[in-house]
Amino acid sequence: MNFLSRRARAIAPYTAGEQPADRKYIKLNTNENPYPPSPRVQEVLRAFDAGTLRLYPRPDADGLRAAIARAEGVEEKNVFCGNGSDEVLALSFPAFFDEGGTACFADLTYSFYEVFAAFFGVKTHIVPLKADFSFDLAAMKNADCAGYYLCNPNAPTGIALPLSAVENFVASVKDRIVIADEAYMDFFGESAVPLTKKYKNLLVVKTFSKSYSLAGIRCGYAVGDEALISGLFRMKDCFNSYPVDAVAQAVCTAAVEDRDYREQTAALVKAERTRLREELLALGFTVPPSGANFLFAGRAKKSGGELYRALKEEGVLVRYWEKPILSDFLRITVGTPEQNGVLIEKLKKILQ
Ligand code: PMP
Repeated sequence: MNFLSRRARAIAPYTAGEQPADRKYIKLNTNENPYPPSPRVQEVLRAFDAGTLRLYPRPDADGLRAAIARAEGVEEKNVFCGNGSDEVLALSFPAFFDEGGTACFADLTYSFYEVFAAFFGVKTHIVPLKADFSFDLAAMKNADCAGYYLCNPNAPTGIALPLSAVENFVASVKDRIVIADEAYMDFFGESAVPLTKKYKNLLVVKTFSKSYSLAGIRCGYAVGDEALISGLFRMKDCFNSYPVDAVAQAVCTAAVEDRDYREQTAALVKAERTRLREELLALGFTVPPSGANFLFAGRAKKSGGELYRALKEEGVLVRYWEKPILSDFLRITVGTPEQNGVLIEKLKKILQ
């Protein structure tokens, strides 16, 4: 007897990057921030009264949403918070797409979109990237669909669209929703959040996992017109009343209020991104310019899989794929100068 539903048997789930415990690695595989979160986060955790955990957290995370609204220059009613931006993105499918409706995105983009679409019975219109790995916005515009997922900067390529291109696209498809996944935007700096006041069809999704160094806390948010935000709340309240726990609400409030710290650590990552890219180019890799905290490096003398395995032996973890269009490439998270130094040294040895 198989007790699994047809859906549970048939679906191909997303595979998260590995978090191995067998030894200590230099972890450059899941785009975590190499720097700790704001010192204010540590203060909040130290002062946190465990007695308050007896109570449920605020179901709509209203204190945190107010802090995010202040930081983003919008109102609290324009902000929705979830358990990681993955959950916010997941809820966006049933909120904005009918079963049997169509969502459009690129062939090479955050691979969770395809899993969410399958899970919620949404069809997909997949548009190949151009030869230089950039989005083919003209082809996307012509797609017969109810809306778009635009990962900016894109993953795993790192390529960023300038704000003007995002605005032109959003304006040109104004009866369709555009969900801009800005998980890595703080490493580029042209967020579309200000455009959400002008365009009712734009939802911007962000996370505390990357530029705020809080991947372990699980919190992400969306900014958009009140009507879009209310759709996300309706779906949340069909699924989990309290997606953001009390510790996460307190920690993320402190983090979002420390803009200086976020900008300082992002600046360190960006400086290292430039240096690491130059080193990789010098080793013969093709590396598109990245607006994110990772580099997409490929077409060297060895395949992505071979390089991944050799680096793992040497104690350095990176991400690779079996998929044919990606098999030449590695995705390497930008680490600290020391970590990147070790990576380059090991790569030199392996490629010799
Ligand atoms: N969007 C993109 C493009 C990502 O790479 C990730 C991280 N895997 C996420 C969203 C989700 O991040 P989180 O759930 O940690 O907020």
